[in-house]
Amino acid sequence: MTKSQSCLRKLKYEKIDKYIPRNITSSALVGILTHVGVLEGHLKMAKMLSSSTEGLDPPEADVHLRARELELKHDISVSQFDIERACIYSAALTKTKHWKTLTDLTITHIEHWFEVELLGHKFVGVFDAIGYDPKTDTHYVIELKTTSLEGAVTGAKSWWEAKQMDNQPIIYIPALKKLLGKDINVEMMYVVIKTTSSKPKLRPGVKRKKDELKEDYDLRKQNSVETFDEWSARLREDYANPSKFALDTVTILDKDVESRMNEISDVITMVENQTSFPRNPGNCSSFGGCAFIDVCLGNSSLETDSNLIKLEEKSKEESLPF
Ligand code: SF4
Repeated sequence: MTKSQSCLRKLKYEKIDKYIPRNITSSALVGILTHVGVLEGHLKMAKMLSSSTEGLDPPEADVHLRARELELKHDISVSQFDIERACIYSAALTKTKHWKTLTDLTITHIEHWFEVELLGHKFVGVFDAIGYDPKTDTHYVIELKTTSLEGAVTGAKSWWEAKQMDNQPIIYIPALKKLLGKDINVEMMYVVIKTTSSKPKLRPGVKRKKDELKEDYDLRKQNSVETFDEWSARLREDYANPSKFALDTVTILDKDVESRMNEISDVITMVENQTSFPRNPGNCSSFGGCAFIDVCLGNSSLETDSNLIKLEEKSKEESLPF
């Protein structure tokens, strides 16, 4: 749905021609690994701890294991910085008041795949987690978001209120009702982690000396860059700051679900009647740049572009969990 609203040509390349970007961006990798750390690691452990304290692996082990799986599956190398970021984000989240809000709920599902038929079409997705508050008899579709956008953790209207118009809740809320087989109170709960692209930096006070050769200064600079452990310690300290995280709920009224469903129906009709799948240049630089750019510019083709891969060639790998 989102793709059909952002660029119809991209939708055609991915869903009809079945080509996808070969590489995963660093921010997508960190997002995947943070989901692993938070959901498969800490949240699963919090859920299990209520009944058992034996035989539990440390959550960071999950992140390292998934990184190795991604490397093998996509023939890529996952940087130690991306792995460490995911470990730091997920561990730091558990020290916030938001974690208490989350784990005070009864967590009923973690990373649960669903398939639901709406408007005569099949929609598939994955719930990051489902929580239930027996005091208010409310179910929460818990969505973990990693983003570099400051507004997401400072409560910017453009990020939070736009969630009222997102396609995701319009599909996820009926999907949860179908999963549970009854009409229920459902709210969306967004847990947001502000990400960083921080890398090791020069230790303070390193300056070029008078008459120092550039080569000597460059060498001295190289030796004065933070080590991985120093960088990691600095980042852990940064993420002790609760302002890196946010949690809030969004209620979608039944009447809004209905009107948004009509909009989704119109988008589906529009896509089904497309013949040319227009390009949308306004979307080419979103999310770190579109992998199809050379095909759209006529510099390569789907079949020959080394940045792309035909979906069937990916050895029946499963889709990524978000
Ligand atoms: S390069 Fe731009 S126009 Fe082409 S598919 Fe990507 S977003 Fe669409």
